[in-house]
Amino acid sequence: MFNKILIANRGEIALRVIRACKEMGIGSVAVHSTADADAMHVRMADESVCIGPPSGTLSYLSIPNIISACEITGAEAIHPGYGFLSENANFVQIIQDHGLTFIGPTADHINMMGDKITAKETMKNLGVPCVPGSPGGVPTVEEAMKISTEMGFPVIVKATAGGGGRGMKVAKTADDLEEAFRTARSESKAAFGNDEVYIEKYLTLPRHIEIQVFGDGKGKAVHLGERDCSLQRRHQKVLEECPSPVIDAATRAKIGKVCSDAVASINYAGAGTIEFLFENDEFFFIEMNTRLQVEHPVTEAVYGVDLVREQIIVAAGEPMSFEQENLVANGHSIECRINAEKVPEFRPSPGKISQFHAPGGLGVRMDSHIYDGYSIPPYYDSLIAKLIVHAPDRDAAFARLHRALGELIVDGVETTTPLHRALLEEPDVLSGNYDIHWLENWLESTTSLD
Ligand code: ADP
Repeated sequence: MFNKILIANRGEIALRVIRACKEMGIGSVAVHSTADADAMHVRMADESVCIGPPSGTLSYLSIPNIISACEITGAEAIHPGYGFLSENANFVQIIQDHGLTFIGPTADHINMMGDKITAKETMKNLGVPCVPGSPGGVPTVEEAMKISTEMGFPVIVKATAGGGGRGMKVAKTADDLEEAFRTARSESKAAFGNDEVYIEKYLTLPRHIEIQVFGDGKGKAVHLGERDCSLQRRHQKVLEECPSPVIDAATRAKIGKVCSDAVASINYAGAGTIEFLFENDEFFFIEMNTRLQVEHPVTEAVYGVDLVREQIIVAAGEPMSFEQENLVANGHSIECRINAEKVPEFRPSPGKISQFHAPGGLGVRMDSHIYDGYSIPPYYDSLIAKLIVHAPDRDAAFARLHRALGELIVDGVETTTPLHRALLEEPDVLSGNYDIHWLENWLESTTSLD
């Protein structure tokens, strides 16, 4: 096992990893920008190293600075968290070249899944159901038109290098296609330095359902059920739950096995998430994330596991402690992502927190790096807390979430808590009657956030 792990991240996820290290008796090293000198992850880690100025590019994304921090502190392994360098194959290669261990999959697997065309082709060959679409990249508008007409509109033009909802454009009819094609390409070129795009059938009323998988890198893999992340704004998840209200045990077992078999057969190591759109009782693969997800705590609650601990165990070359038959779902869990943003505009609201009170009690978990007097810097993601509840069933989980949101106090900055409180008043949310467009449609018509 490792003696010391460096966490190449900040915020709540850095805390999450430090907590696992402490419970495992492993030393932890925080890295931080000058803007984060007073951050909670710096205070909680055993050691810390300043790796640059506020700009993420010059600090949390600076590979040389992170490697130097490992050398200075003697850390043997790096946990990347999510975002930043977590899906950067070059980073993984450099870590290995320095005789260090990356806590996550291999550079090859990251490359395979990072390119969405290769990912789709791989998954299709492994028997995973995919969204119908172009067999590969589509280089010209003429070809895009031919494929879309054959498939039928609406279609979605997607960047093969895409991520974070960028480089994606919907063409409702043939008249929209040329513009969608050109915009997706130029957005992708600007964001990812690669203008290759492909085309998929646009599903009109799907849910977003993702399967948590975990592999030991030696041909063994398990699944830990699904998460329903259909409540989204601008392709960003807002509230997630496990299990999904629309997936029954037989469906879960079937799609779960397809996914765990797929990752087992490529010797995948560590945590991964296979994302699907789910429409008319059919699953359609859209992408695989080769890292820990923001919403992993709902799976941890329902399956009673520690995914970060398991990532560390597998990265250290020890046998995976999960066996499929021991992974039994228990109850229901919901996570709210709380951002420092003013609703209904979702305008970032950085600044000083004058008062913070975290909810507690049975079945309540609060993953957050904020504290009384903490100043939220304006440079990074606006996520300030994840409130996770766990209860015996879905209704009880919503009742618990309602109670916990009532206890939460964050003063001094605006947060998205009013959005979550308002969502819990909506019959569609409470009954699970929503698809990926529900939240945006609701935001357009609601007056409850004014
Ligand atoms: P990214 O990597 O940018 O997050 P994804 O491929 O995961 O992109 O898609 C993000 C979101 O975009 C999905 O959750 C869904 O809301 C929407 N989306 C993607 N592909 C389709 C499709 N074929 N039909 C309908 N919606 C889609």
